[in-house]
Amino acid sequence: MTFLRNVRIADGSDPRVTRKVDIELDGANIAAITDAAGQVAEGDIDGRGLFAIPGVVNTHAHVDKSWWGRDWQSYGGENTLDGRIQHERARRGELGIPGVDVTSQVLEQFVLHGTTAMRSHVDVDPGIGLTGLEVVREAVAKVAPDMLFELVAFPQDGVLRRDGVDELLRAAAREGLAEHIGGLDPAGIDRDPVGQLDLLFEIAEETGCGIDIHLHDGESLGGFQFELILDRVEALDLKGKVTIAHGLALGGLPARQQESIIARMAEGDVSLTTVAPAYVAPLPRRLLREAGVRVGFGTDGIRDLWSPYGDGDTLRIALNYARMSGARYDEELVEVLDWATGAAHTFVGGQPTGIKPGERADIVLLDAENPMDALVRAPRREMVLLAGKLAYSLR
Ligand SMILES: [Zn+2]
Repeated sequence: MTFLRNVRIADGSDPRVTRKVDIELDGANIAAITDAAGQVAEGDIDGRGLFAIPGVVNTHAHVDKSWWGRDWQSYGGENTLDGRIQHERARRGELGIPGVDVTSQVLEQFVLHGTTAMRSHVDVDPGIGLTGLEVVREAVAKVAPDMLFELVAFPQDGVLRRDGVDELLRAAAREGLAEHIGGLDPAGIDRDPVGQLDLLFEIAEETGCGIDIHLHDGESLGGFQFELILDRVEALDLKGKVTIAHGLALGGLPARQQESIIARMAEGDVSLTTVAPAYVAPLPRRLLREAGVRVGFGTDGIRDLWSPYGDGDTLRIALNYARMSGARYDEELVEVLDWATGAAHTFVGGQPTGIKPGERADIVLLDAENPMDALVRAPRREMVLLAGKLAYSLR
């Protein structure tokens, strides 16, 4: 048995009140939580009175395509969605993308920001086939073998407009290289929303995989595609198998359409992930919470051929979302923190979790007063335990 001693947790009805505890670890799991004995023995991990939150879950990443760790890359290419896709295809090879070393660099950034589980999209296209999925699995095994993760075979360059992508998606799902298949703006990119969605849902029905689809299209075009997706979830009874990433249109739709879509999402357990972008109305937090729609936060790609931004800190994305969506009351802040941590385990095939006996010991320590303070400042992570092992320590 190992002990993580002298950490503070909030486990009562008042989140402002924390208590100092010792956490007994049995391998990867929490065996018991007891009042702190006040002593640290040899072999124990000293939590130094820091505040403990459950491991952070990055529910929308692209760990295959970053140039983190390389020299600074200046940007070229046209500033359109297609321009960025072409720029990435032209330059990824010279940067070693996809490659175990670049993905390892990204995973290290995730861990030092307290990430203990992730769902990552990984490009598949006729140029690289399924190599990216294999590379990412290899990198996780090397850098963070205890990290919980699921992969999405992601057709970044379109589904229908490129020959052979349908077979790649099918193969990725069949061979178990990806738990989900992705899609991308069925209207905006393929210009055939019905065709792309029919194909993705056919593969999901055939192979049992999930679907995690990027939807950037805005306003009524975006709303229409939400409805097309929901029609198929209902017709094929794919409850709990579909995630919509970004869903940029949802926050700005007319109230009646927004409410109808959210009610249908709750019914079909269709989840949402967001990176809390500053340029559109945020996902309507109160409506989603009341309906019980699952929401996760992600970093999206960081420092890649799309954008120089991002550092791999999902907690900071949650902070941005809390702020943009007007969260102010303690219970709202606690809830957003939960969406970024324990509740998000449903995005990696698990159940909601927390710092409790019997749960996996995925624990992040930070210098915060309580859960609200941990969210609104997102202070640097002092220590990260992944499956009971110290995966990162600032000192
Ligand atoms: Zn993405």
